[in-house]
Amino acid sequence: MKIVQTINELKKAVHIEKKNGKTIGLVPTMGFLHEGHLTLAEQARKENDMVIMSIFVNPLQFGPNEDFERYPRDPERDAKLAESAGVDLLFMPAVKEMYPEEPAVTLTVHKRTNALCGLSREGHFDGVATVVMKLFHMAEANRAYFGKKDAQQLAVIHGLVDSLNVPVKIVGVETVRETDGLAKSSRNVYLLPEERKKAPAIYKALQSIKTAVEAGNTNTETLKQQARLRLENETGANVEYVEILSYPELEPIKEAHGTVIAAAAVKYKHARLIDNIILTVKGRV
Ligand code: AMP
Repeated sequence: MKIVQTINELKKAVHIEKKNGKTIGLVPTMGFLHEGHLTLAEQARKENDMVIMSIFVNPLQFGPNEDFERYPRDPERDAKLAESAGVDLLFMPAVKEMYPEEPAVTLTVHKRTNALCGLSREGHFDGVATVVMKLFHMAEANRAYFGKKDAQQLAVIHGLVDSLNVPVKIVGVETVRETDGLAKSSRNVYLLPEERKKAPAIYKALQSIKTAVEAGNTNTETLKQQARLRLENETGANVEYVEILSYPELEPIKEAHGTVIAAAAVKYKHARLIDNIILTVKGRV
């Protein structure tokens, strides 16, 4: 596996592959890799000739009071894990490499952001869209892999590619979980032991929505109220939101029908965790 830090080195390696007609799969990450990231890389490995993973903690997508400085980082461990997942090229640029000066142009996302994390993380998805677009160009990716764990991000990226006719196929990958159901996340290391014990209740509350919907209880207000109570009682965290929306549009719905997302965000002392499930509800149209 090759490790490069500059855009020039990345482009050189990409040009050689492209000249030979090879396909490129890109896996954008912020590092501190876990099985979720590795699953993305493994899927990219199966579907492309060359796999590029980027590790970049993107300052543009962090708000002033968020955890940019203390976001966990471990480049050496990451490099070993990336190699084990079949990554060919690991791109680990410094902030100055990606943004040598204040960018003259950045992207603004107009849809799918007025809900869920978009409400509390102002500008977050603009930062994501901007960095992802830069990476698509640098890596000349044929396919790019994103986790359904960040379902709003995935919806925004589909919107980006559709709106700007970006020639990249977006591949959404199922959420990888711990055995107790907690979604794997780089931020889980910040959970206190007591918090970690209770955190699987997030997924359980989301699953209880699924069970209720399958039993025919599709009124979203009732479902949300019940799930909120459960989250408040069982997670030991502050509940930022629990929502049921259409997916991928992320619009409010009174009844859960068609493809819907049930999503929650909770705040522990040092970590804000998100999780979701996407359901296809058949029945009344
Ligand atoms: P991050 O490093 O948190 O920005 O995540 C990089 C990519 O990995 C994003 O596309 C995430 O959605 C994806 N990802 C993070 N956690 C998981 C997980 N538990 N399962 C599947 N994909 C994940």
